[in-house]
Amino acid sequence: MSRPALVLCYHSTNVNGHDYAANDHVALRADLMAIAARGLRVVHALDAVREPLCNQPRVAITFDDGMILDAIDFEHPGFGHQDSFLRILREHHAATGQRCVAASFVIASPAARAELDRKDFLALNVWHDDWWSAAVASGYLTIENHSWDHNHPSLERSVQRDNQRGSFRFIDTEADALAEIAQASDYIEQRSGRRPSLFAYPWGEDNPYLVDQFLPEHAARLGIEGAFITSASRPHEFDRWRIPRPVCGTDWRSPEEFATLIERYLATGDPTPSLRRP
Ligand SMILES: [Zn+2]
Repeated sequence: MSRPALVLCYHSTNVNGHDYAANDHVALRADLMAIAARGLRVVHALDAVREPLCNQPRVAITFDDGMILDAIDFEHPGFGHQDSFLRILREHHAATGQRCVAASFVIASPAARAELDRKDFLALNVWHDDWWSAAVASGYLTIENHSWDHNHPSLERSVQRDNQRGSFRFIDTEADALAEIAQASDYIEQRSGRRPSLFAYPWGEDNPYLVDQFLPEHAARLGIEGAFITSASRPHEFDRWRIPRPVCGTDWRSPEEFATLIERYLATGDPTPSLRRP
């Protein structure tokens, strides 16, 4: 059966406890073992774009928002030591011989990250970008584009022309798209040493302007080859500007639900989750 890759999304900021359902670090470690136990091939998310359909099942790992916990171990004030996602990938490689290279989608703007860190994360300094180039050099992560400022509602001012925040659907003019996407790629290239080849819409929210106009016209020049939504809407056919990703903690919350997701993908080739929650 010819099928797309199953692209999974994790957030290193999801640390609300010590168990699988409340902690994406615990979930990632367990899920990688479940993937290895089934002998599934793990590819980089870029492979999901460059080879849209393939007879062999493939899984790709992605991280969103670009907290330092993607790559740096962290002493959490409430829940203690957290192994970084990068450590988990490295240890998984050592334990199983399976090397996974994940795509880390980061918010580019240093000012936006600093403001969000201050307002939403108790000023823990968990959103700097000093780790980007070392993460790329590690060979386990690539730094990819998750927009300039996420058009985040906690920011005083976003780049959106009318300061209309809280949704990426408001990014629907060329000037706004250049400010959110092109500017982000430029900064990430300068800081990480590698230009991003992938974009993930904040909140997984695409819109017709970006999908049908901006990306088809500008992406090649910007170096972007594919864009990822989450799983809220399911395209019927492969669309490189709307590649779905199931999200850990939303689309599956336990090893059993993860097994169901994998089984369904293996049986049907469908890379979107069947588990729907209200
Ligand atoms: Zn995000």
